[in-house]
Amino acid sequence: MTLREAMFWEVLPDKAVKCQLCAHNCKINDGKSGICLVRVNKGGKLFTMVYGLVSGGVVDPIEKKPLYHFYPGSGVYSFGSISCNFKCANCQNWHISQIMPQTGLVKEVAPEIAVGLAKQLNCKGIAWTYNEPAIWFEYNYNGSKFAKKLDLYTVYVTNGFINPEPLKMIAPYLDALNVDVKSFDDEFYRKICKGRLEPVLKTAKLAKKLKMHVEITNLVIPTLNDDPEQIRELASWVYHSLGPDTPLHFSRFRPHNKLKNISVTPEKTLVMAYKIAKDIGLKYVFLGNIYHPRYGNTYCPNCGHLAIRRGGTFGVKNINLVNGRCVKCNEKILAYH
Ligand code: SF4
Repeated sequence: MTLREAMFWEVLPDKAVKCQLCAHNCKINDGKSGICLVRVNKGGKLFTMVYGLVSGGVVDPIEKKPLYHFYPGSGVYSFGSISCNFKCANCQNWHISQIMPQTGLVKEVAPEIAVGLAKQLNCKGIAWTYNEPAIWFEYNYNGSKFAKKLDLYTVYVTNGFINPEPLKMIAPYLDALNVDVKSFDDEFYRKICKGRLEPVLKTAKLAKKLKMHVEITNLVIPTLNDDPEQIRELASWVYHSLGPDTPLHFSRFRPHNKLKNISVTPEKTLVMAYKIAKDIGLKYVFLGNIYHPRYGNTYCPNCGHLAIRRGGTFGVKNINLVNGRCVKCNEKILAYH
């Protein structure tokens, strides 16, 4: 493991530092690490322990991120590292998100090699995913810059807890984000994730302002965040703050990690969430982690024609669009195709 000087930190008295990469803004004393465990203070300087440490890389359909209105049907090379700035009780990737670099589950890969692989494997883009991409910012910032040289699109699958300055810095090289809004209740964030809601909402808004493509995912967990009023608040916030064209995915919860005592989200709860979001006026609402013959598709919001039919394991069955527009009424549906 090679330490590399981190970006986004400032010096504090007595050899302490303040990390400014994410909204935890950890104060870290000499010899200690931040909440994510992979940014460490050595002698009054902040270092990242995960530059180049890759826990996995695989070709996925872009729909798996999930991004449904961003180059549909394309293959994306998906990379992750380890650790996270959240501690979600339901994390399904806990085996990589809650471990230290010394565990041997990672291998060192230079960003140019990782991104080059995406090209060799005929992918259209690269996604920084599996664990929170913001906490290995230094690596995926360089990787994203290199991806642009190879004409690849770039994606963050993120919990949205990154601070505005790093997001602005990577924005010219980052095309799309799927932001996980885990609940519209700050209490949920504090208790279940050890995070906060407000910085997440700020990230989604800023990404949109910076002209990146944004989709939102909400994992609906029975008894914890499935209150219809809360779902209404979330959908209404997406409508008013990000716009009615923003895709919103409601995803089915399956018991994982410390929430094994909670059962799978019933289909009727997901359908209820779908209907609330559609009634509010969102044009593109989807259900994920569940097969449904209707609620995984994109329909033209103007004439109702089936624009993209999805089915099976994240597959796109057919795309009835020409240059991103409805074949029947010419309504613009996709900006990226
Ligand atoms: S990136 Fe890590 S060290 Fe930095 S503020 Fe966030 S949790 Fe703390």
